[in-house]
Formats: sequence, C-alpha cells, structure tokens
Amino acid sequence: MKAEIKFEPIANWGVKNPKPFIIAGPCSAESEEQMVETARGMDLTKVSAFRAGIWKPRTRPNMFEGVGPVGLQWLRTVKQETGLLTATEVANVKHVYEALKAGIDIIWIGARTTTNPFAVQEIADALQGVDITVLIKNPINPDVELWVGAIERIARAGISKIGAIHRGFSRFEKSAYRNPPHWQIPLDLRRMLPTLPIICDPSHIAGNTSLLEDISQRAFDLSYDGLIIETHCNPSVALSDAKQQITPYELSRMLGRLALRSPETSDPGFLQNLEELRGQIDKLDVEIIRLMGTRMRVSEDIGKVKKTQSITIFQAGRWDEIMNKTIEMGAAEGLSPEFINNLFKAIHQESINHQTDIMNKKD
Ligand code: PEP
Ligand code: MN
Repeated sequence: MKAEIKFEPIANWGVKNPKPFIIAGPCSAESEEQMVETARGMDLTKVSAFRAGIWKPRTRPNMFEGVGPVGLQWLRTVKQETGLLTATEVANVKHVYEALKAGIDIIWIGARTTTNPFAVQEIADALQGVDITVLIKNPINPDVELWVGAIERIARAGISKIGAIHRGFSRFEKSAYRNPPHWQIPLDLRRMLPTLPIICDPSHIAGNTSLLEDISQRAFDLSYDGLIIETHCNPSVALSDAKQQITPYELSRMLGRLALRSPETSDPGFLQNLEELRGQIDKLDVEIIRLMGTRMRVSEDIGKVKKTQSITIFQAGRWDEIMNKTIEMGAAEGLSPEFINNLFKAIHQESINHQTDIMNKKD
C-alpha cells in the first residue's frame, strides 16, 4: 500500500470565501479593460479568484493563441483593484517561470497537458520548493490513473495546496455536452485521494451557457469543493470559447440560486433513516450480484448446448429480442432506455465471455 497523500484543505489556501471556492474570469485575457471590467462586475462576497488564460492551447494554429506575458500584468492589475487571487494556465517550464515571476497565486495544468507525464514532470520539477497553489485538470481521455499520476507528480515536488479540476472528457459519440462529465471518474478520484479538493468546471463540460447551472448544482450535490466558471464582460465578442461564457451579472444570479448541501449532519432522526435506507440498498446489491451469478451459470449451460451443436455464440435476433423486451420492462419501472442499454450490454458481454471460455475448453 502506498502512503496516502495528505492535501491542504482550501480553507488553508489563503482564500477569502473557501466554501464553496469560486474561481471566475474569462477563457482568455484579451485586454486590460476586458479583464478589469469583468473583475469589477463580480460579487466579491462569493468569488475568490480570477482566472484568465494567457497562453491558449488551441486545436488548430492560426486561432487566437493568447496574449502572452503582458496578460500576467493585467492579472496583477485585477488583484490590485479587487483583491481577487489570480489564476492562469501553465503548460511548460517557461510558463511556470513567467507566472512565478509575476506573482500569480494559482496555476492550473490544462487537460491536454495532464495527458502527458513528461510535460507534467517538467512542470513539477520547476515547482520544487515553491509555495503556490496548483490545480490539475482531468486529462482529456477518461483515465483516472493518468489524473492521479499527474497529482502525485506535483505532490512529490513538495506542493501541498493541490486541487483537481473536473472539466469533462473528449467525446466520440454525439452528446449534449462539449466534454461529457462521466461523473464516475471524479468520484473514483475522490475515493482514491479522499482529502483532495475537487473543483468543477461546468463551462468546459457544457460548452454552452444553458447547462451551466444544472452541472454546478450536481457538483455541489456530490460535495465538490468549488467551481471555476468562464465569465466575460461581453461574451459574444470573446476571442475564445464565446458560446460558454456568462457575464459577471449572470454569474452572481446563478451562484445565488445554487443550493449548497452539507455532506454531514448530526440530526439523529435523519441519520437513522439514512442508515435504514442504505441497509436496504446493501441487501438489494447482494441480491443483484447473486442473480447475476445465476444468470451467468445458465448462460454457461447454453454455451455447452451450443458447443455440442457447433453453433456460434452470438445470435443477433436473440439479442434484439432481449433488448426490446428489457427496454419495455425497464420503462415500466421508470428506468431510462440508455440505462437498460448499458446494463444489458455489460451483462451480454460478460455472458459472451463465459460462453467463449466454455466453448474453447478442451474436453
Ligand atoms: C481553459 O480553462 O480555458 C482551458 C483551456 O481548459 P481545458 O484545459 O479544460 O481545455
Ligand atoms: Mn476556455
């Protein structure tokens, strides 16, 4: 067993409003006026840090690639005028040195950089012995180990003020999200590193403004520690990510509507009720697993029969029949077709694996 890493809670990061910790600001720094106007519009009782990308990782060249180091000076102006902490993205050692020289409070490692252990290690080496807050975005691919690996590299450089940013994952299939959240992955991260603060980035998950509030509420309901939200004084003319940015006014309104629920309570009646319901869930899980075992054994028997007749494992007609039937039964139980589809795909795959073993076993 590796020793568990201990992370500094956000309350010890020198943040004015740590619960929840809100970072807001434009996708990209564009001009000093844009930065100051955006920052001045923020509700300083809720927002604690101001973000702006200076070096922008764009998919294709010839797009707006950021204003470069002059933007760091604009971040300093924002800090002088509002007292907000400053945050920017770093992707290489040069960026780290420039950000440290400018006295930036928080640096974040972007999703494309987290995918590359060489790049993360170089950043970690440059941060050795530095007292700064480092946020690590999830890698664009849905790989929790790669995310944990990047966090471990930064922790090993002696940084203790570390947070993770959940910004969603690249997609292949059509989706309502720009980067589907796959909530299970950040929850796995929480299980693996229980003291690590996690911040949600609904802007890059959604890719538009209409889903921001739902995603943010969901993050709070899953006891995330904060949000990073792209905010621009005039989103429609933003030089990057125009579709997903909101004005400071819209941000204040949205933050006012979000409900912050506590993960803990000491109300004995509530706790007893919760324990009772959790007991029911645990019993049902035992039954589900037993039923799955029984189902697989029947499926193995089918494998034996198929083997004696030399017929193939997969029969499309039978699969369609199962899917149609189960989707209909699921609907009657209030279960979505997507859920039934995923569930039965997984069951069917396991069944095929069992049958393949049987059919290829030497007698
Ligand atoms: C950003 O925060 O503007 C950004 C580039 O994000 P990501 O690394 O999540 O794509
Ligand atoms: Mn962006």
